[in-house]
Amino acid sequence: MKRSFLLAFATLLASVAVAQQDAPKAIYYAISFPNAAHHEAQITITIPQAPTGPLVVRMSRSSAGRYATHEFGKNIYNVTATDVNDKPLELKQVEGDVFSIAEHPAAVKISYTLFGNWTDGTYTSIDPSHAHLNMPATFMWVVGQDNRPLTFEFNDLDKYGWHIATQLKHLGANVYTAPNLQYMMDSPTELSDHKVSSWDVVNTDNKKEKINLTVHSDDNQQVIDNFGKMVARMVLEEKAVFGELPAYDYGEYTFISDIYPTTSGDGMEHRNSTCITIPAPKVEGLEKRLLGVYAHEYFHSWNVKRIRPKSLEPFNFEHANMSSELWFAEGFTQYYGELLLVRSGFVDLDDYTGTIAGLVNQVLNTPAAAKYPATQMSRYSVFADAGVSIDPNNNANDFTSYYTYGGAIALALDLRLRSDFNLTLDDYMHQVWINRGKVMKPYTVPDLQSDLGKVTNNPKFAAEFFKKYINGIDKNNYQELLAKAGLELRKAAPGKGWAGSLATTAGRGRAGQPRAANAEGLPILSSTIIGSPVYKAGLDAGDIILKVNGTDIKDQKGFDDQLTDKKPGDKLTVSYKNRTGNHETSIVLEESPFYEVVTFEKAGKQLSKEQEAFRNNWLQSKVK
Ligand SMILES: [Zn+2]
Repeated sequence: MKRSFLLAFATLLASVAVAQQDAPKAIYYAISFPNAAHHEAQITITIPQAPTGPLVVRMSRSSAGRYATHEFGKNIYNVTATDVNDKPLELKQVEGDVFSIAEHPAAVKISYTLFGNWTDGTYTSIDPSHAHLNMPATFMWVVGQDNRPLTFEFNDLDKYGWHIATQLKHLGANVYTAPNLQYMMDSPTELSDHKVSSWDVVNTDNKKEKINLTVHSDDNQQVIDNFGKMVARMVLEEKAVFGELPAYDYGEYTFISDIYPTTSGDGMEHRNSTCITIPAPKVEGLEKRLLGVYAHEYFHSWNVKRIRPKSLEPFNFEHANMSSELWFAEGFTQYYGELLLVRSGFVDLDDYTGTIAGLVNQVLNTPAAAKYPATQMSRYSVFADAGVSIDPNNNANDFTSYYTYGGAIALALDLRLRSDFNLTLDDYMHQVWINRGKVMKPYTVPDLQSDLGKVTNNPKFAAEFFKKYINGIDKNNYQELLAKAGLELRKAAPGKGWAGSLATTAGRGRAGQPRAANAEGLPILSSTIIGSPVYKAGLDAGDIILKVNGTDIKDQKGFDDQLTDKKPGDKLTVSYKNRTGNHETSIVLEESPFYEVVTFEKAGKQLSKEQEAFRNNWLQSKVK
């Protein structure tokens, strides 16, 4: 049955080759898996109505939503070009990932082999259990033909017992389509024997949106159905923030998840779907821990896929887009992904105080947050977001994550809107949704400021907030703000001697493996943090600590043991060696600057009625 459907398509293609120019026909992709055991796919692209002049096809160097560049061209080979009767055409490789055909007829076929063996939101993996396809890592595309529809035929499904999870539009049997290149690239596709749990959400306009949870894992259907009920609850809590679900294209949103110990941990948002990969044995028993990434990625179906930074529009597949807005696109999503699990009842307050402490420490205790505004840290994403390189960077001192930096700003803004304006961050997000997302009008940083001015009816406050905390490096008073909800911000280790991080495990080899430890002493593997006692003592990457106060040091624990019972101001005498020989220095211990957050109840303080009400308004469910 699939075969006859394909033949009909082949006939269709033959006729489109001579069709009129004003209605561009779909570029037709066929992918099959003759060698899945060795991680290969075979891909053929048929291009009817090829543009006149040289026909240029290429692989991408970046992927929608992944902000750093990736060389996808390295994983294709056996690239050939023919006419539709398989007569060879001369194909020239003009760059590593760019191919050109100078002389060609109206219809051209390109074929190549793809290798893929990495399961996450950026790459592609192929084996007999699945074909996990991120489109930029999988499919070549025709330069200059961005607005043509693209049709996909996924073969060998019966051979491997696979079915399909994707946001692409289903045309019938194993054939799917995308209206244009941007949509196609945003539509990861999972071919596997995954489980599906689906439900409808009645939207504010009374239309139904269908939500599909697909999970490729070793769980049974009942586990996935139960997990689906938890995801459904989280979905409603997110809907309550914006007042409505987005109107999904074709009326569906799909969580495409792949949960298995050898996958790489990732979540990648798309317009009507998300790709979630988690290195875990299965869903069963880990539901609450897995839910965070689902909450984060689903929030993106408003914030970033529809409330869209102008800087990411349209997505450039030859070079990563740089954006000053990721503190909002990712940071505010980070804040909500965690907050909404509290509102949905899956995370309790004591766990959530740990999350808050993480945000506050990020903004108050990282060297880069002290030096650079959130907008600048956003722009570094072109290197930071799963960017691949061999040589080390100085991220410990020169970069702080726009996820947590932005999350900390969201936290402060939420608490300020609540205490100073009798408003909430939900009101602000709703305003941005109505002004930008729902109408698909890409925004800039000044637009976000203008929306804050509108929702507070106080443009002066908005101007000051953006000047100080978004475009500047001032910090909000978290201690004062958190106290309004009966939460205490206090030093995590008062009165104890602290040396700072030695970064003995932070260095990573190219394959993500820790570098081999030195047989002698404790090697420091990456930059120590500016201002910390070990930094002031002159210790850095390349140094090997041999002794502390006369005791041989072999590992991090041996070093930590030397800190027991030490006070701020105490000294450690350190013998170390490096390429210039043996040296001695002293570390003058300080008090750790890091904070913890605890409830007033835990801190032995009285929680006032006002604080309790403030806290409940903030953290309790908004689902009516
Ligand atoms: Zn995100």
